[in-house]
Amino acid sequence: MIIDFEKERSRMVEEQIAFRGVTDPRVLAVMGKVPRHEFMPEALRAQAYGDHAMPIGEGQTISQPYIVALMTELLELKGDERVLEIGTGSGYQAAVLAELCQKVFTIERVKTLADKARATLDRLGYKNVVMKVYDGTYGWKEMSPFDAIIVTAAAPDVPDTLVEQLKDGGRLVIPVGERYSQLLLKIIKSPSGTVTKTSIPCIFVPLIGAKGWRE
Ligand code: SAH
Repeated sequence: MIIDFEKERSRMVEEQIAFRGVTDPRVLAVMGKVPRHEFMPEALRAQAYGDHAMPIGEGQTISQPYIVALMTELLELKGDERVLEIGTGSGYQAAVLAELCQKVFTIERVKTLADKARATLDRLGYKNVVMKVYDGTYGWKEMSPFDAIIVTAAAPDVPDTLVEQLKDGGRLVIPVGERYSQLLLKIIKSPSGTVTKTSIPCIFVPLIGAKGWRE
């Protein structure tokens, strides 16, 4: 069976992402461009543009397309930013960010996933993504401060390290809550402190580390 991935992708943008209220034209264009199926295990590629998260190995998942688009929109990227991602997973979210900002720094704790993500990003020609295998709850201090930080795993609390590594005016988007249900938060940093806005309920795999959940 030959699948028209491009057609599936444009349907995904229309029916799952724009339909639910994502409006940033740059985000919509990139969701229509990045080949999500390339980031998935081969056996699951036929379902790459479905309205759900999918397993990527090691008990981890690639997020639902709408969630990727919504979190990306919340970061308010214009093109010249340095963005930190915690939880590289398949590398798909990193690729979406790479299309929308100057440079992406992404951290993954599971080496096999990071290696696979690196290979996919290289194959697709993404040159503005740097990666390390580490506990991302510490952030990436040497490379800070960041214009935006996205955490794609569920945290019990907002790690203070990540807020510290944001620029003034910077945005942190992170799912926070219980192990199996969270709220998506957007935290905006300013010289007088932080403002927290609540987006939607969500379910992510756990952020495991010093300032996350225990293994
Ligand atoms: N953004 C990914 C999906 C991430 S799934 C994508 O587009 O495919 C969440 C990922 O976070 C998993 O791969 C998991 O191993 C990783 N993770 C969990 N805790 C982490 C931590 N403390 N530091 C870095 N990565 C972590």
